[in-house]
Amino acid sequence: MNSPSTAAPPDAPLILEIKGASLDDGPGIRTVVFIKGCPLSCTWCHNPESKAVGQELSFDAGKCIRCGECLRVCGEGAVTPGQGPDRSLCSLCLACTEVCPAKALEPVGRAMTPEEVVETVARDLPFFDASGGGVTLSGGEPTLFPTFCGDLLRQFKARGMHTLLETCGHFSWSAFESHILDHTDTVYCDIKLMSPEAHRHHCGVSNSNILSNLEKLLTLHRSGALDVLPRVPLVPGITATVENITAIADHLNALDAHTVQVLPYNPLWHGKIKKMGGHGAAPSESLGRFMDNGEVKHWRGYFEERGLTTL
Ligand code: SF4
Ligand code: SF4
Repeated sequence: MNSPSTAAPPDAPLILEIKGASLDDGPGIRTVVFIKGCPLSCTWCHNPESKAVGQELSFDAGKCIRCGECLRVCGEGAVTPGQGPDRSLCSLCLACTEVCPAKALEPVGRAMTPEEVVETVARDLPFFDASGGGVTLSGGEPTLFPTFCGDLLRQFKARGMHTLLETCGHFSWSAFESHILDHTDTVYCDIKLMSPEAHRHHCGVSNSNILSNLEKLLTLHRSGALDVLPRVPLVPGITATVENITAIADHLNALDAHTVQVLPYNPLWHGKIKKMGGHGAAPSESLGRFMDNGEVKHWRGYFEERGLTTL
């Protein structure tokens, strides 16, 4: 079973990346702020570098030119040109990332104040205005840091931006209501597995809190107080099974949801895991390749047969 960290997260997250010009994370052209740290531990996570809350170091062997600069500055003797860091020795001082000319070694996560994040995102305001876009908080899991992310969202709204939260749904409802809800226009909430046991096995926690939060979110959606879109990641043999997809479709119908977005599986996380020091091997053939259009259409069909519109 996957086990997420049980340690309490710090108040402020590290920022994994601020990525502009996204067309996949909400309406219009969007800038996505990726928060580092997630309370789930999904086996197929497509952003594995966002799972851990703390600082990490990535090494891309394909970029390394074996210049030896990293070895020269590493006080721990933890890095070998061409092979990268020995993570059991590395103190994460990040000195090597400052001298690596090929950017083969890079820090994963950096501390930023909410004001620094807002100023960075605000440079893209002309694109938001021209396209009906805005800013999306993603991760990792932004709700793991409700005070920080609530402050971010409040400042985004004060600058006239449309705000969207992408969430795994596993959060404290009271913290969400207190800090985030008032400053959020749209929530994309994932629903992955209907079986609590399967959810615990593949994601590290039961789905009970997620299903409870999704129900509350959809109640707000029906009242017109919040725009909410449930999303289902299609993971071959895990979430993309007839039993699970039909159970999710029936559940969404019971909650009077009319629309669902399906997220086709992609295998790029294997390469990312390798850069973080893991082995990166695909556990099966179907998890080692992109899901093709025919497969996606097949899974959409189960939702559409049950009257749901799929995006
Ligand atoms: S400094 Fe960068 S490019 Fe040079 S040997 Fe180290 S990892 Fe490779
Ligand atoms: S982060 Fe610091 S300790 Fe780790 S390999 Fe780089 S220089 Fe060495």
